[in-house]
Amino acid sequence: MVNPFNQSPLQRLEDDFLAEKGIELYIKRDDLIHPEIQGNKWRKLKYNLFEARVNNIHTLLTFGGPFSNHIYATAAAARLFHFKAIGIIRGEEPEILSPTLKFAESKGMDLYYMDRESYRQKDDPTNIESLRTQIGNFYLVPEGGTNALAVEGASEIIEEIDIPFDYICTACGTGGTLAGLVSGLKGKNQAIGFSSLKGDDTLTPKVSELVNYVTGFDYHNFSINFDYHFGGYAKVTPELIAFIKDFKVKYKIQLEPVYTGKMFYGLFDMIKNDKFPIGTKIVALHTGGLQGLSGYMKYFTEAEIA
Ligand SMILES: *Cc1c(COP(=O)(O)O)cnc(C)c1O
Repeated sequence: MVNPFNQSPLQRLEDDFLAEKGIELYIKRDDLIHPEIQGNKWRKLKYNLFEARVNNIHTLLTFGGPFSNHIYATAAAARLFHFKAIGIIRGEEPEILSPTLKFAESKGMDLYYMDRESYRQKDDPTNIESLRTQIGNFYLVPEGGTNALAVEGASEIIEEIDIPFDYICTACGTGGTLAGLVSGLKGKNQAIGFSSLKGDDTLTPKVSELVNYVTGFDYHNFSINFDYHFGGYAKVTPELIAFIKDFKVKYKIQLEPVYTGKMFYGLFDMIKNDKFPIGTKIVALHTGGLQGLSGYMKYFTEAEIA
């Protein structure tokens, strides 16, 4: 399989605020990897697609909600690399498909709907077996795309950064991307995850476990910040929306409210409150996911996200 994706750019952000605080801030622009297969979702899919291919499996099956970045990216990647794709979607079939699901269908993904109760049991081996009986053989990509191969893919982000830095930051959902960054750091520097979900004490051990599984080492040079979830997964506040709009005007970089908006809000708030010493060099990962804005259009005008 040929990799058509180039290394993503590293872009320095400069303004009076950062200069005053003595912070050097760089953005690793994984949002620019591919217009449809963005950011960490590509990083996490990459070796899973290789694995499916070498095992001669032609169908990918995965799970997600109706606005899932992972469903969107998997549908696009499946089309690009000639896999058949099946998406199991949380909840009843909606009367009007979300833009995400419309896109997935347009890429040829077959969508099935699972009620929320069954969806909670989706990873149960008996459920997976029954899907195999109904659908035939498939390569299973977990919800959100996180597994050991995903962590390996995300660890490559670190190799692409060719400047010295003290911290690398990422938005955090399942923790797979953070685990990848920590794996790539191999004990050097510090990684900070900003959780998009409310506090959950299983996340830190889960990241440690993934890192250990992939690298064979216990690395502790990371932390997860739970202060900027804005009420929980996919929840927003007027300040968060205002921050995203302001960021776009100031830096010409688009964020979205579920992940990257919360991370950058959190990071800027930490810088404002002098949590980093003068001279600190920070790389913030833009994990992409901009298709997710389609679920928040009541907060934005077309011009604000153009
Ligand atoms: C899925 C996603 C995340 C969360 O990644 P995890 O590996 O699940 O922690 C962060 N940012 C964006 C834009 C995403 O789509």
